[in-house]
Amino acid sequence: MKSSRRNFIKTGVIVSAGLALPSCEVKVDEKKVVKKPLVVSTWNHGLKANEVAIETLQNGGSALDAVEAGVRTAEDDPETNSVGYGGLPDANGDVTLDASIMDHLGNAGSVAYIKNIKNPISVARKVMEETPHVMLAGDGAKQFALKNGFKVENLLTENSRKSWEIWKKSNSNSPEENHDTIGQICLDEEGNLSGAVTTSGLAYKIPGRVGDSPIIGAALFVDNEIGAACATGMGEWMMKTLGSFLIVEKMREGFSPQEACEFAVSRVKSKNYNNEYFQAAYIAVNKYGEVGSYSLQPGFEYAVAGKNTNELIKSRSLNK
Ligand code: ASP
Repeated sequence: MKSSRRNFIKTGVIVSAGLALPSCEVKVDEKKVVKKPLVVSTWNHGLKANEVAIETLQNGGSALDAVEAGVRTAEDDPETNSVGYGGLPDANGDVTLDASIMDHLGNAGSVAYIKNIKNPISVARKVMEETPHVMLAGDGAKQFALKNGFKVENLLTENSRKSWEIWKKSNSNSPEENHDTIGQICLDEEGNLSGAVTTSGLAYKIPGRVGDSPIIGAALFVDNEIGAACATGMGEWMMKTLGSFLIVEKMREGFSPQEACEFAVSRVKSKNYNNEYFQAAYIAVNKYGEVGSYSLQPGFEYAVAGKNTNELIKSRSLNK
């Protein structure tokens, strides 16, 4: 009989002064058929992003190349007013962007509050690959981008400027929930996972505000032995509950991606003592290519693609 020991990937056992802490052994079900390649993205602009991610894989790219190329489609699209070029600005009329990326080795990179750089996801990848750091913010992130060949560009489109002027005239002091951060997870043919998230964040936010998207563990987490998760929704809530990390940890305990997403959304709801209205949504993929998604409010959709398929799916939600 095969030793049950061989069904485990041993990633670490911690024993200290007679106190045995839980080990991080991961059970692998060798009989499960893994569905790959697989790409899952948030919202309907995920369809285009998935198409490009699958193409990237077909051209020999890795999961990391796929998610970078995939989410760049939303950053480049002026019609997407929640990501990159065309994103709605902060209260001063400046477009400020947040992005993060993680690969199958657990490497991570992110940029926060970066201005005038169209593809923050690619800057985040450079931070990950070419610096000893994980996150660069504000002017430092911009200077780093410029040194690495990125150009200064005006990201405020005419449409976004008009919307901002209307908001300004309304004398509103509050930011507006501007969903549609793109988050994408890819499981490539090699069985490697990577993820990327990029956004312009809440519309008309207080200048200086950073959301959950560049925070590793909040909007994005990847553990190649287990799975990956991405978030979209009210960043302040996603930061306070670290749902993407939580989802991966629940999958490690044996939850399916669906159960893990439901757990994370319930956690957000249970901490919302004042019953504020906001959206919180997650997507998750495990090592076997099983997909999960759940949102607090109805209306969240996500796109799932394989080699020859790409479809938009309505997520189930906790509130009806
Ligand atoms: N999570 C983003 C932020 O708060 C916005 C969103 O996804 O709706 O910056």
